[in-house]
Amino acid sequence: MSGIRVALDGPGSSGKSSVGAAAAVELGYRFLDTGVVYRAITLAAVMRGLDPYDQAALVAVVPELELVADERGNLRRVRLAGEDVTDRLHVAEVDRNVSAVSAQPAVRAALLERQRDVAATGSVILAGRDIGTVVLPDAELKLWLEVSAEERARRRAAQRDVAFDSAEGQDILADLVRRDHLD
Ligand code: C5P
Repeated sequence: MSGIRVALDGPGSSGKSSVGAAAAVELGYRFLDTGVVYRAITLAAVMRGLDPYDQAALVAVVPELELVADERGNLRRVRLAGEDVTDRLHVAEVDRNVSAVSAQPAVRAALLERQRDVAATGSVILAGRDIGTVVLPDAELKLWLEVSAEERARRRAAQRDVAFDSAEGQDILADLVRRDHLD
């Protein structure tokens, strides 16, 4: 019998990963922030100079992806062709290209089964954009986090040690709004 599946959706930097990981520890569930798999494909595209619209080339990267759980059951570490790339998943170049990569239907289809496989392993929290609608439409619990773009940009700026009112801070806000729109 499968366990309880929680869909935790929301926009970028809305806190899905922090809330989901903390709740999963509290409940003893596994946790996957599905943004990392889209980011890993995008990182591969950036590193290898692949066209973010070349669906066949992007789909060919999917079998190279490996999700590794930490000691708390959080599948937060990602290996790409055996190499741990977790620390590079949030670089600006990935942020800039991830929506284009994620918009490719063949990429989404190839990643769907990977995400469902995780959910088939027992009680889980999956964070993303389309978990409640596409990945786990019959999840036992569906949550959507709503946070204003400005608040999300403030948090991201603080994470990067950037003043929100600076030009760089305002770029972060503009980038988030652009990504919201594309997503
Ligand atoms: O949540 P995060 O900002 O890490 O997601 C990165 C990108 O991955 C999103 O901007 C979106 O383009 C894509 N994504 C998606 N579907 C998901 C999770 C993320 O398309 N379930």
